[in-house]
Amino acid sequence: MQDYDVIIIGGGAVGSAVARELTRYRLSVAVLEKESDVCTQTSGRNTGMLHAGFLYKPGSLKAQCAVEGNAEFDQVAKELDVPFKRTGKLIVGFSDEDRARLEYFIERGRQNGVPGMALIDRQRMDEIDPSAGGNFAIHCPSSGILDPFIYTIALAENAVKNGARYHLYTEVTGADRLDDGRHVLHTSRGDFACRWVVNSAGLNSAKVSDMLGIPGYVIQPVKGEYFVLDKKAGAFAKIPVYPAPTAKFTFDTHATPTVDGNVLVGPNSFNVEDGEDYSVRQSGMDGLQESGARMFKHMKREYYIRTFAGARPKHIDPATGEIQDFLIECRDDVPGVVNLVGIESPGLTSALPIARRVVGMIREREALVPNPGFDPVRHGIVRFHEASREEQARLVRENADYGEIVCRCETVTRAEIIAAIHNPLGVCTVNGIKVRTRASMGRCQGGYCETRITAMIREELDKAVTDVRLTNGNSYMFTGYVKGGGQA
Ligand SMILES: Cc1cc2nc3c(=O)[nH]c(=O)nc-3n(C[C@H](O)[C@H](O)[C@H](O)COP(=O)(O)OP(=O)(O)OC[C@H]3O[C@@H](n4cnc5c(N)ncnc54)[C@H](O)[C@@H]3O)c2cc1C
Repeated sequence: MQDYDVIIIGGGAVGSAVARELTRYRLSVAVLEKESDVCTQTSGRNTGMLHAGFLYKPGSLKAQCAVEGNAEFDQVAKELDVPFKRTGKLIVGFSDEDRARLEYFIERGRQNGVPGMALIDRQRMDEIDPSAGGNFAIHCPSSGILDPFIYTIALAENAVKNGARYHLYTEVTGADRLDDGRHVLHTSRGDFACRWVVNSAGLNSAKVSDMLGIPGYVIQPVKGEYFVLDKKAGAFAKIPVYPAPTAKFTFDTHATPTVDGNVLVGPNSFNVEDGEDYSVRQSGMDGLQESGARMFKHMKREYYIRTFAGARPKHIDPATGEIQDFLIECRDDVPGVVNLVGIESPGLTSALPIARRVVGMIREREALVPNPGFDPVRHGIVRFHEASREEQARLVRENADYGEIVCRCETVTRAEIIAAIHNPLGVCTVNGIKVRTRASMGRCQGGYCETRITAMIREELDKAVTDVRLTNGNSYMFTGYVKGGGQA
């Protein structure tokens, strides 16, 4: 049985941030993740906004963690090589009712310590972004956009660099205690033992909490659907545009440029039973078309390149249905457990602040010895299409694989794909390569390059072509040979 000081259940942005922060100390740390990669669930299914923190109740963990995570992100993005732009954000209004709510949120932002928020008129909005809908707006300069896939991967890779172990395809199915108080976690890949366990299981956090001996929490998955718009639309989108909050203080459909130049339109919001059913509904997409056009003047069908969905794990009070704050707890009656429940938005922005609180709870209960070898820096894969002409020429001179373009839409080279195939987490799916390089994220959505990437995974890792998957489980790229079992 493998034995660790700390095991984290769930390798999303939050679990990986916890792993990274724990490797600052001399601890053996493992992450058990049921999926093929770290960003297949909520951490890879969101808007990628670095929230400013004006939406949340003053004093709440959501407000504190968002403001803290926002303030440090220039430094974090630099350390971890994460694509990030501090774009600011417009929250636009049309009516007197909207204006009153926007004024309320400027005041709330002030109480939470959000810098520089101001109400601006249409003339000023036109200077910032003429494509934004609305008659007036809050301008919030501290908001930003980041690549949520790369951020999650970067946290995980940095944790691995500093000694953490990732066990993918490893689902925790139950837990027991040994006589000495240590935990035994039963998984789809055998048993693991540890002194501390951190529950960072996202949509499954209530279920895992129950397994660990803390029953009673309720997670309501609240789904959100999106359109992804082509980079041609991205040319018009300078800043994320959100509508004035609803009466329940949530945001409706927004239009957000991505760090790579696409535009996301969504999400909508509705309760579902199965948070991991990521299908989208025609009615939902029709609704996004209508509400998105109010936010973004270039919302045209010709720009749509794909859809996706994610689900917010909302922690609700079962008696009232009221949505709760993030829950970060370590209870004396259930020792050796740090429990994270209801880490919904702004969970991406808050991943490192949450992680520091988790480490703080462990440190209050035992002395932690600093790891002198901890290195906070992680380098990502060099992106050919972002390099200058001179730099591109140098790359091709040094490695001929930079001279072969595999994904034509996003200009991703063979060298980048090979680097991604040999990633530090050992992820070897076609989607794993996609989120690391952007290959197949362009207008043709992999029509040209997916089969070539499959062949490269087969060659580089010496696999049978029938062993390569799009993502996990039965998502075969090829199930066999049409003609007699030759090489693909
Ligand atoms: C539509 C939408 C938009 C959002 N927009 C933003 C935004 O713009 N900015 C922002 O800050 N936040 C945003 N969020 C919130 C943010 O995405 C989440 O709070 C954050 O990603 C949560 O990270 P996590 O690691 O807790 O969860 P996850 O990424 O879901 O990770 C949990 C992991 O646990 C694994 N797991 C579950 N059960 C088990 C088990 N039994 N055994 C092993 N592994 C298990 C899962 O496979 C998963 O990988 C948004 C969320 C949604 C849904």
